[in-house]
Amino acid sequence: MSLPVIAIIGRPNVGKSTLFNRLSGSRIAIVSDVPGTTRDRVSTDADWYDRSFLLIDTGGIEDRPAADSVLWREVREQTLRALDSADVGILMVDLAEGLTASDYEAAELARRSGKPVIVAANKADNRSRLADLHLFEHLGSESAIPISAYHNTGIDELMTRVFESMPPANDTDIESGAIKIAITGRPNVGKSALFNALIGEERAIVSPIAGTTRDALDTLCSYGDTKLLFVDTAGLRRRGKTDRGIEKYSAIRAIGAIERSDVAVIVMDATEFVTAQDTHIAGFADSADRSGVIVINKWDLAAETGITDTDAMAEVRDRFKFIPGASIVFASALTGEGVGQIFEFVLKTYAEFSRHLDQSELSREWYRALGERPLPSRTGRHCRIRGIEQVGVRPPTFVIMCRRPELIHFSYKRYLENRLRARFGFAGTPLRMIYRSEGRRRHE
Ligand code: GDP
Ligand code: GDP
Repeated sequence: MSLPVIAIIGRPNVGKSTLFNRLSGSRIAIVSDVPGTTRDRVSTDADWYDRSFLLIDTGGIEDRPAADSVLWREVREQTLRALDSADVGILMVDLAEGLTASDYEAAELARRSGKPVIVAANKADNRSRLADLHLFEHLGSESAIPISAYHNTGIDELMTRVFESMPPANDTDIESGAIKIAITGRPNVGKSALFNALIGEERAIVSPIAGTTRDALDTLCSYGDTKLLFVDTAGLRRRGKTDRGIEKYSAIRAIGAIERSDVAVIVMDATEFVTAQDTHIAGFADSADRSGVIVINKWDLAAETGITDTDAMAEVRDRFKFIPGASIVFASALTGEGVGQIFEFVLKTYAEFSRHLDQSELSREWYRALGERPLPSRTGRHCRIRGIEQVGVRPPTFVIMCRRPELIHFSYKRYLENRLRARFGFAGTPLRMIYRSEGRRRHE
């Protein structure tokens, strides 16, 4: 379920950006918003044949002579963090220039990360350059793969090896049966404080998870009879962090965490209120088909700012239209207000996210909705909507058989979805409505 993460590392000018652009097309999703002295890390979602993944590009690791410089330390730190978030690293080297001290440096960082690393020997533009390939053999865990990012050769072999070395998806016993929760939001809204308040709750029992390094990033907790798995909490557990690097990485990590979660807890700061990025992160929860609970934190400071809960509620509902009926909690990690309610709402939202409707009730409501507002006659003559069936949960997924589904207007589909919501709930969860053509084969 979670997208694999691949990081490209190496010294400057070996062709990392060229490979990044080649693999991502032009779809750059996130550009780090923290200005730094180094080139900001860039990440994107990408596809290679039918595999989707997140791709991270890093600044180049400079040669050691500048070892005491701030820049050098930052790039090193950045590379380590990129590898930390990644499942596999691609260590890029330059066949035209040969082996350098910074290639060793990068390989050393890669080794220390404990992640599988594939060496891509770039600029293999002609055969004569392959003669030096053996120089790079020992940098990674396997032999180096000659590629040309620029001329688009060797990429298939590289990516095949990258995916082969990917650790198996960690759907462990621990994870199965637990509700997976991602705590997301901009830096400084109080995610860590809230997380600590949540696991400090009287009724929450936290158990350490043994196992892979990936699991160590998560926190398992039980609440009554329910197992909860807080996803990717390593950054939240750290106390008194002042590290700018963490902010830099927060966006990519947030996306990964949301992808792995059932319920995304979207945290906002009552004193700042909804900013563009809050909706951006929540928007991702929507496109990732996860459910959401919205927390307005630092409510203890709300009186000072003059916001009332009615204003706040209206504003949030307006901005988060794409998570219909999401629960909104006013909370303070500082005083503990509302913290227990977050658990309640997470359980409630998860139940909606997992809800399977009775077929006869579903059909009855469906035909009632179609009868009360028939398809506009102009389209109605050509297309016909027939039965509906729920084929899945998390999120609730419906298949609707119809003729010429492409003619059904978006607003009519929204009307039908709203009717289901009005009758059955599904608060805080997306619905996947698949209009499938049945008539085409028979009639056309
Ligand atoms: P980065 O600093 O590692 O991100 O490197 P860039 O992607 O910016 O590439 C550095 C230079 O190498 C650019 O001028 C690229 O056009 C060039 N380059 C990238 N891939 C190849 C390749 O396969 N062959 C050759 N000859 N040049 C390449
Ligand atoms: P994160 O970056 O989202 O994890 O934010 P932190 O948990 O590190 O909190 C950022 C700052 O906000 C810290 O100084 C916290 O003490 C403060 N903070 C967090 N929650 C609350 C709250 O409910 N009320 C008040 N007044 N301050 C809070």
